[in-house]
Amino acid sequence: MLYLGSALSRSPNRSRVFLFFGTDIAMSRRRRIYEGKAKVLYEGPEPGTLVQYFKDDATAFNNKKHAIITGKGVLNNRISEYLMVRLAEIGVPTHFVRRLNMREQLIREVEIIPIEVVVRNVVAGSLAKRLGLEEGTPLPRSIVEYYYKSDELGDPMVSEEHITAFGWASAQDLDDVMSLALRINDYLSGLFLGIGLRLVDFKLEFGRLYEGEQIYIVLADEISPDSCRLWDVETNEKMDKDRFRRDLGNVEGAYQEVARRLGILPEGGPKDLKGPTLMQ
Ligand code: UDP
Repeated sequence: MLYLGSALSRSPNRSRVFLFFGTDIAMSRRRRIYEGKAKVLYEGPEPGTLVQYFKDDATAFNNKKHAIITGKGVLNNRISEYLMVRLAEIGVPTHFVRRLNMREQLIREVEIIPIEVVVRNVVAGSLAKRLGLEEGTPLPRSIVEYYYKSDELGDPMVSEEHITAFGWASAQDLDDVMSLALRINDYLSGLFLGIGLRLVDFKLEFGRLYEGEQIYIVLADEISPDSCRLWDVETNEKMDKDRFRRDLGNVEGAYQEVARRLGILPEGGPKDLKGPTLMQ
């Protein structure tokens, strides 16, 4: 279907009106910097910024399983915005600037540290498998794990020693990462508990933000039901990507329910409306 939209150029010396058809054509005008499994990064409107576009693609088991979950990108964009803004309010530095439209957000360009930081409160997923523990067992204290980001290697678990020895991050970087991860866990655990969800575990990514002489470690990527395990406190029902990984059905319904409880269902409704997009 074609959608007709218009947007004023933001270039200072011209105020032409562009006509464009639908999101895809508008998007193709921007330089694509990187395409991942669930998101695309485009060049941003100003130096030092990027546009993060949320796709409906879902993948699992290192890309062996793939599906399109209609509306997932819209929900994740909104949920991640909400959580990043709440975290910024408590002083956690993030790459998030603002949401641009239903599928895109403006972010600061950072140098991604190639480590996935997983924080766990309850045994689930790979931890249950690796150590033969029963899923759902509460952990005596929160555990932070590191995985090296490499699709070819299947994101192997690594220790601080590997990370510093191979120069992926410095010991100082890791101190910052660890303390931010624990603060984020404390805050988000409380936030989700308030809406009847147990934050079982989640994955974070961090980046280096260069500002003049200074380098800051900031939270990057996204926080959404794609990267968290969220179980209903009353029923233990899974409200996250495990519904896709384990073929439990109604993936989008679960994501919608998370957004609904957070009070942030997208303005245009949960489905992908592919409406006109303002060009940047
Ligand atoms: N996770 C993620 N991306 C990954 C791997 C894990 O977002 O590439 C999240 C996952 O959704 C879960 C947490 O990190 O909330 C811990 O995942 P786990 O190590 O148990 O691996 P999985 O069982 O997902 O393979």
